Amino acid sequence: MSYDRVYNFSAGPSMLPVPVLEKAAAEMLNYNGSGMSVMEMSHRSKAYEEIINACRDKLRAVMAIPENYEILFLQGGASSQFAMVPLNLMNGTGIADYAVTGQFSKKAYQEAKRYGDARLAASSEDRNNTYIPAQDALKLSDDADYMHICFNNTIYGTKWNYIPETKCPLVADMSSCILSEPVDVSRFGLIYAGAQKNMAPAGLTVVIARKDLLGKARDITPTMFNYQIHADGESMYNTPPTYPIYVCKLVLEWIESLGGLTEMQKINAAKAAILYDYLDESALFKNPVEKEARSMMNVTFVTGNADLDAAFCKEAGAAGFVSVKGHRSVGGMRASIYNAMPVEGVEKLVAFMKDFECKNK
Ligand SMILES: *Cc1c(COP(=O)(O)O)cnc(C)c1O
Repeated sequence: MSYDRVYNFSAGPSMLPVPVLEKAAAEMLNYNGSGMSVMEMSHRSKAYEEIINACRDKLRAVMAIPENYEILFLQGGASSQFAMVPLNLMNGTGIADYAVTGQFSKKAYQEAKRYGDARLAASSEDRNNTYIPAQDALKLSDDADYMHICFNNTIYGTKWNYIPETKCPLVADMSSCILSEPVDVSRFGLIYAGAQKNMAPAGLTVVIARKDLLGKARDITPTMFNYQIHADGESMYNTPPTYPIYVCKLVLEWIESLGGLTEMQKINAAKAAILYDYLDESALFKNPVEKEARSMMNVTFVTGNADLDAAFCKEAGAAGFVSVKGHRSVGGMRASIYNAMPVEGVEKLVAFMKDFECKNK
């Protein structure tokens, strides 16, 4: 069936897989014989309990999350985690190491400074966040409670191509790369992600945390910001974001149907290669990021001429390639090619770029 859909390259909220939207639409007015929409359902009902439990189980299976990790379905966005992480984990020496590789990690660092001794372990601001610091460039404290990184930098289009070695638990913001490829969860103390990039509609924040790190929040921690409270309540301490959790379950089923994260990674790598290969040979467009640090999810590019960039975004939008404008803070273009972006969306965008290049020689 055709729906006249555009290719949506938005950084988030972003595309959802068509089969997921179709299933959600088919179940919209009467979910599984319940006579109501999931949106209308009590979160304490049996039918909803099955949905949230299935979502949790599927996430554990798809990401191979070990049993000693808690999975929490929260609200407040990834941005709330900037405070929640220090409130819950800055509980020993009060020291935490932060790598600043973009805007979100900078916000996380600045927020943590309000609660304790947050230290700058590395920064890539000297070259406009176009690279990721190497392991031997990280200034790590001996006695930090944790280290924080942003694994994929949505705005700059960079990604950590290694997992830092640390003495302390590693905390990672994976908002824009979660479910894009397999990750060894056991290398992290805590992973968090706003769901609106690669998991579900906005409104859901997923936290995956090693159980032994929880239960030591500071006294001043608001109840709603205490991981242990949500763990004890199985993400039902209060009303969870019921509909996004339901869609997240459908997204996980869709990933399973494709063969899981190993297959997802292959598809994503192939999609990203189509764009980067063209950018490497183009005389007009350039990817400003160091090759080893390239993101598979957010591909940034510029012409070097702001007027030409603006013309490109406008013409692309009119041709059905929507939201290719770069983040307002960096300009240029950005194609976010999350799991739900089909290969032909990227192929057609590249064909459009080639055409634009020809016309603007
Ligand atoms: C989008 C994003 C955020 C902000 O997420 P909100 O849910 O809007 O708070 C934080 N970190 C990263 C890496 C992101 O991509």
